[in-house]
Amino acid sequence: KGPDPDLVAIAERMATVKHKILILSGKGGVGKSTFSAQLAFALAAKDFHVGLLDIDICGPSIPKMLGLEGQEIHQSNLGWSPVYVEPNLGVMSIGFMLPDPDDAVIWRGPRKNGLIKQFLKDVYWGELDFLVVDAPPGTSDEHISIVQCLDATGIDGAIIVTTPQQVSLIDVRKEVSFCKKVGVKVLGVVENMSGLCQRITDFKFMKMTDTGDQSDVTEKVREYLEKSPEMMNLIAFSEVFDSSGGGAAKMCNEMGVPFLGKVPLDPQLCKAAEGGQSCFVDKDCGVSASALKKIIEKL
Ligand code: ADP
Repeated sequence: KGPDPDLVAIAERMATVKHKILILSGKGGVGKSTFSAQLAFALAAKDFHVGLLDIDICGPSIPKMLGLEGQEIHQSNLGWSPVYVEPNLGVMSIGFMLPDPDDAVIWRGPRKNGLIKQFLKDVYWGELDFLVVDAPPGTSDEHISIVQCLDATGIDGAIIVTTPQQVSLIDVRKEVSFCKKVGVKVLGVVENMSGLCQRITDFKFMKMTDTGDQSDVTEKVREYLEKSPEMMNLIAFSEVFDSSGGGAAKMCNEMGVPFLGKVPLDPQLCKAAEGGQSCFVDKDCGVSASALKKIIEKL
C-alpha cells in the first residue's frame, strides 16, 4: 500500500509553512480563540506572514474576532483563498462557509476530519512564517485529525490556554497528557482571566441604603476622583476565581511544562476581541496587551 495521497498533498501544501502552532484548551470559554486571534495580530504586526486556521468546526468564533464576519472564501486555480485581514494575515474558518452564522454545525467525526484534511490540503496560504491553529476545546476528533494530518513532528508545539480555577486546570492536565501521547511539544500554558483589571473610570459605584436598596453614586465619586487627576489613571486589580491551589504556574511546575504567564480579565480586551480588533493598537487595552506581549515574546 502506497502513502496516503491526502497526506502527501498536505505535506506539499505545508512545505511553504515554516512554523505551526496549535492553540488548545481543556474547556470552552477560557479565551483560547481570543489568544489565538491576538497572537496572530501580534505576529503579523512584527511583519511575519501569518495564517490563522480555525478548526473549531462546531463553534467557529475566529471570523468575528478578526472582524471578518460575513466574508466568504474564494477559490482560485491555486486552491481556496484565505480571507485577509492584512496582506500578511490570512484567516480560514468554517465560519466563512456557513450561510447563516446562527446555523448549528452538527457533524460526526469523519465529516469533521474530512473538512480539516480539506483545509490543510486545499487552502493556498503561500509562504507563511506561522500557521496558528485554533483547535476546539478538549481532545477529540479534530485534535487527532490535525496531529495525524500535520504529523506530530511537523508541529512546532502547542500552547494551552486555561483559567486559574481547579476545574479548568484539571482539564489542562489532560491536554498535556494528550500532547505527550501524540508527541507534540507543549510550548507552554497561559493563565487567562487571571484576576480582574479595570480602569477606575469604568467603575460604577453603588451605595447600599439602610433599606437594602442600591443607589447609584457614580457621579459623586467621579467628581471626587477628578479633583486629583492621578486618581483617574488608577487601575484596580482583584482576584475573581479561587486560585488558592497555586493556579497554572504550580501545575506547570508539577507537570514539567513551561508556564508562559498570566493575562487578566480585562473588559477592554473583551471589547477589542468582540470588535475584531488587535488589542496591541488600542491604548485602552494597556494592561492585557502588555501581559500578552510578554507571553508572546517568550515563544
Ligand atoms: P474559547 O475560545 O476558549 O471558547 P473565547 O476566546 O471565545 O474562549 O473567549 C470567551 C469570551 O471571553 C469572549 O467573549 C472573549 O472576548 C472573552 N475573553 C477572553 N479572554 C478575556 C480576557 N482576558 N479579558 C476579557 N475578556 C476575555
